[in-house]
Amino acid sequence: MNYESTPIHFPPGSRIAVLTTEPVGVLDYLAPEGGVRQGQLVRVPLGPRRVLGLVWSEGTGDFDLAKLRPVGKALEAEPFQPGFIDFLTRAADYTLTPPPLMLRMATRAPDLDQPPAARRVIVPAGDPPDRMTEARSRVLQVMADHGGASFAPSELAQLAGVGTSVVKGLVAQGTLAEIEAPRDLPYPRLDPSLPGKPLAEDQQAAADSLRGAIREGGYGTTLLRGVTGSGKTEVYLEAVAECLARGRQALVLLPEIALSAEFLERVEARFGARPGEWHSGITRTERRRLWHMAGRGEVGLVVGARSALFLPFRDLGLIVVDEEHDGSYKQEDVVYYNARDMAVLRASICKAQVVLASATPSLESWVNAGSGKYRRLDLRSRYGEAELPDMTAIDLRAEDMPSGRWISPTLAGAVEARLAQGQQSLLFLNRRGFAPVTVCRACGEQIGCHQCDARMVEHRFQNRLVCHQCGETRAIPTACPSCGVEGKLAPIGPGVERIAEEVAERFPEAKATVLSSDLFHSARALKETIAAISEGDTDIIIGTQIVAKGHNFPRLTLVGVIDSDLGLQGADLRAAERSFQLMRQVAGRAGRQSGQAPGVAMLQTHQPDHAVIRAILSGEDETFWDAEAVGRQAAGMPPFGRLAGIILSHPDLATVTGFARQLAENSGLLRDAGAELWGPAPAPIARVRGRHRMRMLIHAPRQAQLQAAIADWLALHKPPTNLRLAVDIDPQSF
Ligand code: ADP
Ligand code: ZN
Repeated sequence: MNYESTPIHFPPGSRIAVLTTEPVGVLDYLAPEGGVRQGQLVRVPLGPRRVLGLVWSEGTGDFDLAKLRPVGKALEAEPFQPGFIDFLTRAADYTLTPPPLMLRMATRAPDLDQPPAARRVIVPAGDPPDRMTEARSRVLQVMADHGGASFAPSELAQLAGVGTSVVKGLVAQGTLAEIEAPRDLPYPRLDPSLPGKPLAEDQQAAADSLRGAIREGGYGTTLLRGVTGSGKTEVYLEAVAECLARGRQALVLLPEIALSAEFLERVEARFGARPGEWHSGITRTERRRLWHMAGRGEVGLVVGARSALFLPFRDLGLIVVDEEHDGSYKQEDVVYYNARDMAVLRASICKAQVVLASATPSLESWVNAGSGKYRRLDLRSRYGEAELPDMTAIDLRAEDMPSGRWISPTLAGAVEARLAQGQQSLLFLNRRGFAPVTVCRACGEQIGCHQCDARMVEHRFQNRLVCHQCGETRAIPTACPSCGVEGKLAPIGPGVERIAEEVAERFPEAKATVLSSDLFHSARALKETIAAISEGDTDIIIGTQIVAKGHNFPRLTLVGVIDSDLGLQGADLRAAERSFQLMRQVAGRAGRQSGQAPGVAMLQTHQPDHAVIRAILSGEDETFWDAEAVGRQAAGMPPFGRLAGIILSHPDLATVTGFARQLAENSGLLRDAGAELWGPAPAPIARVRGRHRMRMLIHAPRQAQLQAAIADWLALHKPPTNLRLAVDIDPQSF
């Protein structure tokens, strides 16, 4: 164990402080018969209820000892390590999250009260027959997808979308069996001594360096930079091997984990067994099992989404954040946090190494690597003979673009050439649906959402208008809802579905596939489509940003960005960074087939001279990052200065503006701390789900005690009933 402090044991009848999951937070109780250890989870009486609590410290209150109630029996879960409690405390302080909410995040496993008793589970039993009903084969498919997981019969049926009788049928037939199994089985051990692939020279150097850091022990963060396909994964799997060989646990965070079947297979090929998986797509049984095994140290490697960072690992030695720049690491709901930053915090407490892997690092990580706060390892080329695609701009001002067309003649010609050679093309447009705006040609009105300040987006495949803020949908009307005139509603601008329509018209012989998150009802359906594309089952892929993430399409040699200007506008200071990352990632999808010319990426743009477009075309990433950093530094913006967002919302506009004004007028405590308050102003989307939203930004120099100042300032104001206030430390957009 790497923690220096050992948990304190509290003798029976002594006064202890327990952190509950309820808003009251920490309360004093009496230690139960037999005593209790710091870090143990307990049930405690709170009024008439019994709630979950964590034994925190010695009691501090002056409440009469005789009147304290004893805590209930400790749960069978492994006690939290002192380092984990420390992490939760500091994460709560950093993000200004009430500690009870942090505890909820750390106990997000079902049935924590239940002992690991035996229960009935379904396991594979025999070879499936050659012919099967569609429903039965779906059940087997789900089992295969979850490789080795055990399911309760009802859970399996639900995942497959069939009745339990279908599962029973497979049991009766002998293909599956129902057995008694303990609830929480340890995970099969990964074998770190199995050989990895022989590494290229720069890979080997990077792997050696990471292995060395892990062997030494202690905390450190490394930025592992290299274009897609340069072999970063192969390198950090070596770090995982070293960590496992030292008997410590490793965590790999991935964006959009549900799509990573390919990744799990790679781990299995490397270490002989599958890792534990943690994301929204896993079953309750697996969630519970993984949570307990993390605590007991009986899962070596966990692959997960951002919330895996709040698992109670017993001894975490390595955290990898793959695609560290990815926006999905930022949670902006209930608890606002960036998993990348929390990974660094957690590692610094538990003396672990962090690897941040990316082709296009966040400016924060780039600057930290530049200043020596992080180490930096670079992989210089694509693994093997693959090369980066050739990048060119298509100047839309010089192209013949009739209205209602978005694919320029030059791009169309390139697509034509791929079709002739049996290769794939990808047309990228980061906009879901058919058209972003529906306007009435009679009165000029745009159709908006009733509850949000947002336009309704036409989704023609569903034949609905959809609000991308609140999800409300309605049928596409024939008459204008505003003036009532029939037949004058017109879609304006393109979404991926509209590009698909244009593709169908212009390349009628080609097979096209649209990849957009809203078109797939399950992660599995999307996964299947992606697998089919990889196997070459389509000629033209039309996709939103989900295509930018690490899928490997070997026959893809052309990427066309329909609207490269889309992300460049807007007042958001991070727009350039984000746009650069996204276009680089997408362009990186165009590979090269062995023995042929490198792939090509074409950016359609009206501003070929824009700094971002030029940086992408020239491939001079470092110049771009450095220029961005200079701009941020001059403005005192992150990572050189600090920001916090305050988001207020209320159904009544006057209430929210009134309270925002009151906060702004009494913000002396912020000024005293060296911070300035910007706003209040209506949030970028000023009304969502019927709630009016105001936003303020607090800007402070790096060394300011920002969180403390905000906490003290907010404590002076009592929000009106039903007002929601969220603090977003290090907001994504500013
Ligand atoms: P990245 O994570 O940088 O995108 P990967 O590690 O996924 O790159 O490598 C890209 C491809 O090259 C993968 O298919 C991987 O299996 C292969 N590859 C990388 N390094 C090696 C190696 N040393 N030997 C054989 N194949 C490799
Ligand atoms: Zn809405």
